[in-house]
Amino acid sequence: MAKSIRIDRTGGPEVLNIIDTAPAEPGSGEVRVRNHAVGVNFIDIYFRTGVYPVPALPSGLGNEGAGVVDAVGPDVSGFAVGDRVAYAQSPLGAYGEYHLVPAQKLIALPAGIDFETAAAAMLKGLTVQYLLRQTLPLQGGETILFHAAAGGVGSIACQWAKALGVKLIGTVSSPEKAQLAMDNGAWATIDYTRENLVERVRELTDGAMVPVVYDSVGKDTWEMSLDCLQKRGLMVSFGNASGPVEGVNIGILNQKGSLYVNRPSLAGYADTRERFEQMCGELFGMLESGKINIDVAQRCPLAQAGDAHEALAARRTTGSTVLLP
Ligand code: NDP
Repeated sequence: MAKSIRIDRTGGPEVLNIIDTAPAEPGSGEVRVRNHAVGVNFIDIYFRTGVYPVPALPSGLGNEGAGVVDAVGPDVSGFAVGDRVAYAQSPLGAYGEYHLVPAQKLIALPAGIDFETAAAAMLKGLTVQYLLRQTLPLQGGETILFHAAAGGVGSIACQWAKALGVKLIGTVSSPEKAQLAMDNGAWATIDYTRENLVERVRELTDGAMVPVVYDSVGKDTWEMSLDCLQKRGLMVSFGNASGPVEGVNIGILNQKGSLYVNRPSLAGYADTRERFEQMCGELFGMLESGKINIDVAQRCPLAQAGDAHEALAARRTTGSTVLLP
């Protein structure tokens, strides 16, 4: 028997139930992974609460983890029992001791990367890869604004930006988070709960404002973020931590300076096996070279997944959170 998390309805952290079932057998094209560490992401909260619809109820949660191949289904090549692997885009259900993952979504883990690091870095690190290297291919020398800079994605973004020679202005909600972002290579921080974001960006850039804003906070920051952009700047709205951005009049992009906007997802960038492998290769290179260090600031057993969600939603976490099944 094996433990996993199941939800029968959407709602608060109390809807997470721990259940005990026989591990499922892998079907065609699938690999069963014995999870050693599972990543906790804000998207798990969107699925739990219903902000994003789950395909069906009851449902598992989570789509990121790392572990060892435990069984291989028919029509799978390239993976064998005992291989160390990681994934970031599996069907929901990673919160468990075992998970069935399509081989297409699995990647072999280099020996130098441990399971906790992989589970903490796959989804967030691949996201930073496409944000900084594809959505707008940064050349070095730019000054950018990145929200929630002390969070899971933000902590990796600070380090990746520094490695690219990009000046990252990171927003944070406390002095402790500001220090963490600076330690990770941010060029400057703004406490957007106390300071005037737009005025601080103006000061820090000598009036030039920024060519790109990476905004995962959503509803609370959308309009301020647009005001931080240069003419023809790019607004990358990639998350909804404060709630989704709704009811936008597209004319606002005209009024605020002929702006561009993108609402990207990892699935839209790692959409072929070739691109997925290329992005993983780049991320693994950053990890193995030590240019990016992963801060697993919260670890907890599967049974405390609800507490992990509460802490993440209440802005009490920094860096990444992993579950240890
Ligand atoms: P984080 O660890 O960054 O946690 C979210 C952070 O958002 C908080 O710590 C907090 O930082 C900030 N925040 C601001 N307002 C709120 C609010 N009202 N409620 C809660 N948090 C708030 O989470 P992740 O690293 O897992 O994800 C970061 C964001 O990136 C999420 O929005 C997520 O959905 C998005 N994302 C998008 C992807 C994509 O491909 N589109 C892929 C991966 C993540 P502070 O206290 O400093 O304000």
